[in-house]
Amino acid sequence: MSDAPLLELKEIRRSYATGAEPAEVLHGISLTIKKGELVAIIGPSGSGKSTLMNIIGCLDKPTSGSYKVSGRDTSGMSPDELAALRRDFFGFIFQRYHLLSHLNALENTEVPSVYSGFKKDKRRSRAFALLKRLGLGDKALHAPSQLSGGQQQRVSIARALMNGGQIILADEPTGALDTKSGVEVMRILTSLNAQGHTVILVTHDPRIAAHARRVITIQDGAIVSDEEHEPEVYPDSEDESAHSQPEAEEGAEFTLRPGWATSLRAYADRFSEAGAMALRAMVSNRLRTLLTMLGIIIGIMAVVMVVALARGASDNIISNISSMGTNTISVMPGERMGDVRSGRVRTLKVSDMKALQGQPFVDSVSPVVQKSVLLRSGNIENNATVYGVSSEYFRVYGMEIGKGRMFSEKEAGENPQICVIDVNTARNMFPGVSSPVGRKLLVGDVPMMVIGVLTDKEVAFRPQDALYVYAPYSTLMHKLSNQDYLSTLIVRIASGFSTPVAEASLTGFLKARHGRKDFFIQSSDTIMKSINQATSTFTLLISAIAVISLVVGGIGVMNIMLVSVTERTREIGIRMAVGARQSDIMTQFLIESVTVCIIGGLAGVILSVVTGRIITAFMPSVPLSFSAASIIVAVLTSSAIGMIFGFMPARNAARLDPIEALARE
Ligand code: ADP
Ligand code: MG
Repeated sequence: MSDAPLLELKEIRRSYATGAEPAEVLHGISLTIKKGELVAIIGPSGSGKSTLMNIIGCLDKPTSGSYKVSGRDTSGMSPDELAALRRDFFGFIFQRYHLLSHLNALENTEVPSVYSGFKKDKRRSRAFALLKRLGLGDKALHAPSQLSGGQQQRVSIARALMNGGQIILADEPTGALDTKSGVEVMRILTSLNAQGHTVILVTHDPRIAAHARRVITIQDGAIVSDEEHEPEVYPDSEDESAHSQPEAEEGAEFTLRPGWATSLRAYADRFSEAGAMALRAMVSNRLRTLLTMLGIIIGIMAVVMVVALARGASDNIISNISSMGTNTISVMPGERMGDVRSGRVRTLKVSDMKALQGQPFVDSVSPVVQKSVLLRSGNIENNATVYGVSSEYFRVYGMEIGKGRMFSEKEAGENPQICVIDVNTARNMFPGVSSPVGRKLLVGDVPMMVIGVLTDKEVAFRPQDALYVYAPYSTLMHKLSNQDYLSTLIVRIASGFSTPVAEASLTGFLKARHGRKDFFIQSSDTIMKSINQATSTFTLLISAIAVISLVVGGIGVMNIMLVSVTERTREIGIRMAVGARQSDIMTQFLIESVTVCIIGGLAGVILSVVTGRIITAFMPSVPLSFSAASIIVAVLTSSAIGMIFGFMPARNAARLDPIEALARE
C-alpha cells in the first residue's frame, strides 16, 4: 500500500443555483484518501454527504477547488473522460440500488463492462461468478422486482465490482434495508476492503460508521472531525449468511486492458449492445412503437404508391407514343393543343393535303376527319366514333386487318359507302356473327358495308372499350357530315429528313399557304417533350407531398423519442453513473429511432406492394409500376428520417447531467 493519496480533494466548494443567489452546500472540503482505506463519512441528513460523494465519484463537478484521482486533475476533464474514470476506477452503490428494472440480475451486473468493451462471454462468466460469490448464483436470471432489497443491493455490489471496482463508493448502502440485510451488506463491504478495495461509505448511522477505521464527520458542508480508531468487527456469522462472504478474487484475470476498449470489435460490441437495448425498449412499449411507426408506414406507402402510379402512367404513354412511330407529324387546326377555337378553325383542307403530297420532305399524307355517331344494325344501337381516313392511316398507327380487307388509297377519295370496324364494334354490333364482313351497318344515317375487321390490338391514346369505325375520308366529309375541312393531317416524313427539319419546312409551307399560323403540329418528339414536362411537374408535386408526409412522420418519431428520453431519464443516469459515454447514450437512442423508421419503411414498402397487387387484381387498367430504386430510396429515406428526427432527442439524452438524471423518478 503506497502512501501517495489515491484521491485528493482541496478546498472543494459546491453551490446550487437555487433561488435568487446560489446556495453553497460544501464550504471548502479538503481531504485525502489513500489506497486500501475504509472511510466512513458521517453526518446528519442534508449536511452535504451525497453531494461530496458525487464529486468524489466524478458524477458531479465542484464549483471550485481541485480534485485529483490517482494524481490526475479532474477539473479540466470532458464528460467522456469523467465517464472513463467512473467506469474504470469507481463502483457505485446507491441507497436505492438503482438497478435497471427491465434487465435481470446478470444483465444489470454486466452493464459497466459493456461500456468498457469486454467480450460478451467473458462479461457473462465474470458477472455470474460475482453474483455467485455474493450468494446470488441462483438468482442471476431474476428481475430486480423479484428480488428482496438486500438481494438487489448485493446485485448492485456485484455491478460495482464488475470493472474491478478499485474504489467503492457506497452512499447509505444500508439505508433502505432491514437490519439483517444491512449487516450483511456491511460485512461484504468490509471484506472487500480487506481484499484491497478502497471503500468510501456514507451513512448517518454511527453504529455503521463504527466499523470503519477512519470516520469523517461532516456538518453543514464542512468537515468537523476526521479520526482513526480501531474498527468494530462483525461477529462471525453462524448461519446461512456466511455464503455471501466474497472470497478473494481469483487471479487478476479481469484487470483493465486499455486499448481493448478502443478496438473496432469492442466498438461493434457496444453498438450491438445498444441495438439490443433499443429493441428491448421498443418491445416493452409495443403499442407506442407501432403508432409511431404508423406515421412512417403511411408516409412511405404514399411515396411508393404514387411513384409507382406515376411510373405506370408514363410507361403507358411512352409505349403508346412509340407504337405511333417516330416519323410522323400531325397537323391540327388551332394555335395549340386544347385550343378552344380549334373546333371552329376550318382551314385545313383537302387541297392542303394534295399540295403537301408534292413536297420533297413528305412521303405521304393521311387526312383525318372525325365524328361521333350512332351505329345501328338491326335493333342494336351503340355510340361510336367514326374516323374518316385514307389507307395510309392504318399504316401510321400500325393497325392490322384481321378479316376482310382495307379500303385502298383510290377508294378513300371516291366516297364509297364502305367501312372497316374494330373488334369491339364487331362484337357489339354483330354479336354471335363470326364474320361481319359484307354486312350492312348504319353509320349515322349513312348505310355502309363492312369490308374489314381490325385485329384486336391496342391503339395509342384510345380508350379500350369505345367503338371505332373507319371510313374513307371522302365518304365522311361528303355523305356524313358535309364538311370541307379536315380535323387532322398526318404527314409521314420522307426518308432522309429529320423530324425537326420536316417540322420546320411543314410549318413554313402551310403558313405560306394560309397566310398565318392557324394550325399547330405535333410529332412524337413534341409529344414526348410535353409529356416529360408534365411528368416532371407531377414528380415535383409528388416529391412535395412525400416530403410533407415524411416530415410529419418524422416529427411523430421525434415526439415519441423525446417522451422516451424523459421516461428513461433515470435509466440514462444509472448508465452514466456506471460509465456510459455520451456517445453510448446517443447511439442507444439513435438506434431506437432509426430502427423504428427502418421497420416502418420496410412495412410501408411491403404494404404498398401488397396493395398494388390487390389493385391490379381488381382494377387491371390502373397502371402501377414498382421500381427497385424507389423501394431502396424509400428505405434509405426512412432511415435518414430516423437519424434526423432522432438526433435531437438522442442528443438531449446524452447531454443529461448524471446527478439530475439519477434524481429523476
Ligand atoms: P445528505 O446526503 O448529507 O443528506 P445532500 O448532499 O444530499 O445531503 O444535500 C445537501 C444540501 O444540498 C441539502 O440542503 C440539499 O437540499 C441541497 N441540494 C442537494 N442537491 C441539490 C440540488 N440539485 N439543487 C439544489 N440543492 C440541492
Ligand atoms: Mg444523501
